[in-house]
This record gives sequence, C-alpha cells and structure tokens, in this order.
Amino acid sequence: MNMALWLDRTARIMGDRPALLLGRRQVADYESFARRAAGLAATLARDGIAPGDRVGIFAKNVPDYLICLYAIWRAGAVAVPVNAKLHPKEAAWILSNAEATSCFVTDSLGDDLAEVTDLPLTRIGDDPFETACAAQPLDLVPRGAGDLAWLFYTSGTTGKPKGVRITHGMMAATSLCYPLDVDPVRPEDAALYAAPMSHGAGLYAAIHVRMGAAHIVPPSGGFDASEILDLSDSHGATSMFLAPTMVRRLTDAAKATDRRGTGIKTIVYGGGPMYRADIEEAVDWFGPRFVQIYGQGECPMAISALSREEVADRTHPRWAERLASVGRAQSLVEVAISDGRGGHLPPGETGEIMVRGAPVMPGYWRNEEATASTVVDGWLMTGDVGRLDADGYLTLADRSRDVIISGGTNIYPREVEEVLLTHPDVHEVSVVGRPSPEWGEDVVAFVVAAVGRTVDAAALDAHCLDRMARFKRPKAYIAVPDLPKNNYGKVLKTELRERLREEGS
Ligand code: AMP
Repeated sequence: MNMALWLDRTARIMGDRPALLLGRRQVADYESFARRAAGLAATLARDGIAPGDRVGIFAKNVPDYLICLYAIWRAGAVAVPVNAKLHPKEAAWILSNAEATSCFVTDSLGDDLAEVTDLPLTRIGDDPFETACAAQPLDLVPRGAGDLAWLFYTSGTTGKPKGVRITHGMMAATSLCYPLDVDPVRPEDAALYAAPMSHGAGLYAAIHVRMGAAHIVPPSGGFDASEILDLSDSHGATSMFLAPTMVRRLTDAAKATDRRGTGIKTIVYGGGPMYRADIEEAVDWFGPRFVQIYGQGECPMAISALSREEVADRTHPRWAERLASVGRAQSLVEVAISDGRGGHLPPGETGEIMVRGAPVMPGYWRNEEATASTVVDGWLMTGDVGRLDADGYLTLADRSRDVIISGGTNIYPREVEEVLLTHPDVHEVSVVGRPSPEWGEDVVAFVVAAVGRTVDAAALDAHCLDRMARFKRPKAYIAVPDLPKNNYGKVLKTELRERLREEGS
C-alpha cells in the first residue's frame, strides 16, 4: 500500500478539518492538503520523476514539507529528507549518494545548496511551487509494502551516514505501533513539529494524517520552548517528539515562567539516553504527559516503548527500575539479547540488542557490506548494548563501541554518568575510555559545571565512591564549557575519545 493513500481517505471524509498550520494560522484543511499534494505529484511526474526515483527535501520545518512528502509518495517516488542543520556539502553528499534527481529546498538552504550541486532545486512556497501544486491532480501510483518510501540517512556519529531503506510497509508498521504502544490519536489532536521533520517527528506525521489530526509547525522552524508552550496552550491536545535535551530545556523554561504545559497531551521522548533526574523532574512538573520510545533509523521509532503510566506511576513497586529502562518491545517487533554466537542470552544478562519484525529495514541503500553485518539472519543488530528483565523490560547500557573495558571488565559509561548527574555541581557529563598501558582503558569524565559552580575532582570522586564500585569511578575529571554534539543533540563521544588520544600522544 502506498502511504499516500491515507491522505486521500482522510481528505474524503474529513476534508474540512484543519490540516496544516503555521503557528496559530491555518494554511490548509485536509481537502486542500490532498489537492495540493496531488497537483505537485503531477508536476513531478511531468518533470520526469518516475516511480522509484529519489527526490530530496533539504528544508527547515515548514507546513509545506508535508505537501512535498505526500507528493513524492503519490508519484511513487522516494523521499530523501535531509537534516536542515547539515552543512550544504554534507547535504550534497547525501543527495548524490541517494542519486536524487531533484530536491525541494527552503530559501537560504537552497542558496547554500545551489553553490555545491547542479541538482535542479524547487523552492518551497514561491510562485512556481504554487503553480506546481495547482496542476491537474495525479492519480495515486500504487506501491507495494516492499517498495521504498523514504531514504533515511543515519545521523552519523561515526563515519559517513548510511541510507536506511524505509519501505511503505515499514512506514505502515511504525505508524500502527504509535496508537498501539505510544498514544492513541484523535482528530482533535495536533502533531507539533518541535524536532526536525527529516527525522522521527516527520515519520510520525503519517499516523496523524490517517486520523485527521492537525499538524502545527512553529513559525520559528526550530525548537523554542516558550513558543511550544504558547502554541500548545492555544491549540490544546498537542503531541510532539522531543530529544532528551529538548525535554530538559522545556522543563527549565516552563519552571522559569511558572507554566505547566496544560495544552500538551503527549511528549514522546527518545533518540538518546534520558537521565533519570531529568525525566523525574519533568514528570513532577508537567504531570503524566510523557512516553518514551527507543528506536533507530534502522527500525524507526519502533523498538520499545515505556508508557505514560509506567513513566509516571510512582506508586508501582518497580517504578524506579522501569523508569531507567526503555520499556517493553513494541507490538510489531521481537527483541532479544545476542550472546555473540548466534544465540540469545537469558533475562538479566547484558549483550547486543537485536530486533526482528515489520518495522525493521531490509538493508542500507547500495551498501551490501554494511547490510550484511547489520541484518543477520533477519535480525537487526542494533549496536546498542542492554539487558531484558523477566517481564520484558529492556534497559540500555550503551552503544557497543562506547563500552569501556578496563582491566578486562566492562564498564558502561551511562551508569557512571547517571551517578555524576546527581551531584549538584554537574550540569552535563560524558564518560569515555582513555587508552591506558596498564588497564587497557581508563574511565575519564568530561564535565560541564552547573551555573555558578565549578568542577571539584575530589568532591566528585567522593560522590562516586559513595555510590558505585571503585573500579568504575573516573580516573580523571576534565572540566569543559560544553560537550560536542551532533545535529540531533547527541554527544559525540568519538570526538572526546579523539581529544584524549591526541593529548596522550
Ligand atoms: P538514530 O538512528 O540516529 O535515530 O540513533 C539511534 C540510536 O539512538 C539508538 O541506536 C540508541 O543508541 C539511541 N537511542 C534511541 N532511543 C533511545 C532511548 N530511548 N534511550 C537511549 N538511547 C536511545
């Protein structure tokens, strides 16, 4: 099934419902959303885009992003959404790797991209774009579950990004998991795009289209905590995907202005580790509005989920333990822990997390070597290390390459970071291994001090000694003004390790 079919169906029975909003201003109801997407699809086809061809979107978050996405699908083509925060040269590399034949752009991104590529660029929102949307609608091009819908380039915390092949079947599976495992969607709800539409937030558009909910794009085009609180209050019942760092910023902003986020229905958080202290504070302040998901581009948004009740119910005897987990397997996947020899480990034992099921990718785009080492006997090897408990709750330890091996013992940086974050002097921390002739690796903590505080190694050491095994505690604390992060806010541990290696040589 072509995912664009859901838009047609919603438009037919809920055509006059608000569909696309820029802030508070409605720019399209469902009838006009579907008509414009079908017109743009016709223009794409007329311009030679054939089913299976790749079309890029290098754009900041704008309501017409969804018009482009649905037009591409309607024409049977494959969307290649590129993170708007990437350098134009990186974007050009992705578009060329995908062998895209054209690309939608927003203003300044288009200017920058034009300098580094010859690809035909279509500017979203200008006159020719509007004319293209007004063309005679194209009939929907049928697609099967195995046909490509989206090429998703992994955020590339190491090496060049790889294109994950997301099929229409995977999109449907991820979409169905949302109401089953995350949050039911009603027409009166609104998806609010606070995170990049080129990533998970954009994938979640499909289920909101299916249910006839509104799509609100903040005019800032990015993450602005007070704008999110304002828009949520004015619309009501908003849902959004936020990275953990965004949850932290939202809580800080809401507390500073004494706002409880009453217009927010659900905040789905994930994409990186959420520290216990941060989520507890967020739930204490906002109430039961949070659901956690764990996923990766290779199984987008759909590996596990921790429900609203599980996040918020402090009366449950195992609440604290479960809050530290990423929840249970979502409905359409199996999750297991690899023993490294083709078998599975029993509950309680730690190893690489593997996943199988409908939302899992068939492989990377034109990269058989990476596919062969990542999808093994139908199982996706996630590169994340964790353990399952007897009830099926999954707790992540770390990415496999982040594990520190000191004196032959595995140390999971996340555990050390969790402890350090409970110290009042610590605002942010990242723990990595430093090569050591004696131990193989030493544990080193990069620490960003809290406002008005300083990093006192002796105090932090005492704090760790009080709370964890001696061998896990850092051998060194390095004060830094901030941590290097990628465009999605993930800490670049590779850079920190690199820095240690350079200093050591
Ligand atoms: P990406 O493919 O860029 O979305 O990155 C996926 C990776 O982010 C996963 O393999 C995990 O390492 C990490 N990740 C995703 N969700 C979570 C979560 N809820 N908690 C901790 N780490 C997560």
